[in-house]
Amino acid sequence: MNRARVRFAPSPTGYLHVGGARTVLFNWLFARHHGGTFVLRIEDTDVERSTEASVDAIIDSIKWLGLDWDEGPTVGGRYGPYFQSERLDIYREYADRLLSKGYAYPCYCTPDELEEARRAALARGESVGYPGRCRHLSAEERRAFEAEGRKPALRFKVDDGETVVDDLIRGEVRFENRFIDDFVILKSDGYPTYNFAAVVDDTLMEISHIIRGDEHLPNTPKQIMMYRALGFDLPRFAHVSMILGPDRTKLSKRHGATSIGQYRDEGYLPDALVNYLVLLGWAYDATSQIFSREELVEKFSLEKVSKNPAVFDPEKLLWMNGHYLRATDLKTLAALAVEHLARAGLATASPDGREMARIEKIVGLLRERMHTVKDVVTLGDFFFTEKVDYDAEAFEKFLTRDYVPETLREIRRRLAAIDAFTAADVEKVLRGYAAEAGRKAGDIIHPVRVAVTGRAASPGIFEVLELLGRDVTCSRLDAAVARLATGS
Ligand code: GLU
Repeated sequence: MNRARVRFAPSPTGYLHVGGARTVLFNWLFARHHGGTFVLRIEDTDVERSTEASVDAIIDSIKWLGLDWDEGPTVGGRYGPYFQSERLDIYREYADRLLSKGYAYPCYCTPDELEEARRAALARGESVGYPGRCRHLSAEERRAFEAEGRKPALRFKVDDGETVVDDLIRGEVRFENRFIDDFVILKSDGYPTYNFAAVVDDTLMEISHIIRGDEHLPNTPKQIMMYRALGFDLPRFAHVSMILGPDRTKLSKRHGATSIGQYRDEGYLPDALVNYLVLLGWAYDATSQIFSREELVEKFSLEKVSKNPAVFDPEKLLWMNGHYLRATDLKTLAALAVEHLARAGLATASPDGREMARIEKIVGLLRERMHTVKDVVTLGDFFFTEKVDYDAEAFEKFLTRDYVPETLREIRRRLAAIDAFTAADVEKVLRGYAAEAGRKAGDIIHPVRVAVTGRAASPGIFEVLELLGRDVTCSRLDAAVARLATGS
C-alpha cells in the first residue's frame, strides 16, 4: 500500500467512550500494520460544546490505552495545525473556492426563520429540510439582506442524482441526493461545519483511509460531493458497525460504564481493554480471543472487520481483565493496587518499601480471585483495616456454633505460643487442634477465617494469617471471642 495515513478525529465534547476507543484502536492498528501514519486531529469547531478538559481527557484515555499517534497535539507534524479551531483561514479559502465556482451560495436565513419554515412544513405534512429559499436569490436580493446587516452562512448546492459510497466494510451504499438538503458548510460566524472541515483536512492531511463509526455513513455522500466539487481525490472509506449493549440497543450509559476513564477507575487494565475492544467487530478466526498487541498489529486487517453490529458484553470484558491481571507481574500489579487502596483510604499514596513488599504479597494471594485491580479493595480490605466487619451471613453460619468460642480461644493460645508465625506453622496448629478435638479441618478453618477476615471466602487461610501476622491474628481472634461472649 502507498503510505497509509489514517486519523482519529474526535470532537472534544466529552470523554472517550467505548465506541471512540475502538475507532482509535482500529485506526492505530491499521497504521501500525501497514507501517503508516496515525494522525490525531481535534475537531473543535463547535465552540459552545468543545472544552479543553475534554481534549485532555480524550488524550489521557488514548495514552492510557497505550496507543500513540505520529502527528497531532503534543507531537506536532508537518500537516498542522491539528486543532480545527486554528485552521479557520484554510476553511475560508476552500469555501470561497466553492462559492466562486458556483457549488455553494450564501444563505441569509436566520435560525428563527428556518425554525418557522420547519414548523410550517411539518404542519403541511411536508419534508422539514431546508426549503432552498436562498438558492436562487438575485444579486439585488442578496444586497438587500446584506444591507439589513445579515451575515450569511454558506450552503453547498446538492445536485439531483445519486451518490455511491464505496465502503471497504459495507460495500456499495447508495444515497439518493434528493433526500439530502443543501447543507451548511460555513456558519455565519465563520466556523466550518464538521462535514466540510473534515473534507478539507482529510485532503490536506493526505488521509488515505477514513475508518470511523457508521453513524457517519449518512455524512459520507455529502463529503463525497464536496471532494468532487473541490477536485480532490477520494480517500477510501471504512465504516465500522455500531456497538450494541447486551440488550441489543445502542450502547449507552444505561448499560453501565462507557467511558474509558471509568474503566480505568474501576480497575481495568489497558491491555485487557485493547484486546476486548478489537473483538468488537474484528475477528481473526472463529475461536481466537487473546491477542497481544504485537499479534494484533501483525494480524489486523479491515477485511476481517464485520459489518454486523457488535454486542458489548461486560462479563466477557471482566473475564478478559482477569486473564490479563493474572498475566501481570506482581510488582506492576502492586503499584496499580496502591492507587485503589489509597483512594479507598486503606493505604498511603506512596507506601515505603516494606509496605510495598507487603502489598505485593497480598496481591499475590488475591490475584487468582481478582477480576479488576479494584478487587484488591473489595476482597482484601481486611489486610489494611484495624478491625474487621463481619459479613452477617458468614458470622451466623460459622461463628454461632457452640464449639466455636472455645476453639477460637485455644487456637489463639497456641498461635501466640509458636516460635515462627509462618503459613506452615499456622497450618500445623489448626490441623493439629482439629485432630485433637476430633473435628474436620474445615470445622476449625471456617470459623477462624470469619474471625480474622470477616468473610466466608478468602485466599488460603494459612497464608492469610502469616501475612496478617501474629499480633493482628490474635487480637482479631480475641475480638471475635469477646463479641460472641456478649452475644451481640
Ligand atoms: N468529529 C467527528 C466525531 O467525533 C469525526 C468523524 C470522522 O471521523 O469523520 O464523530
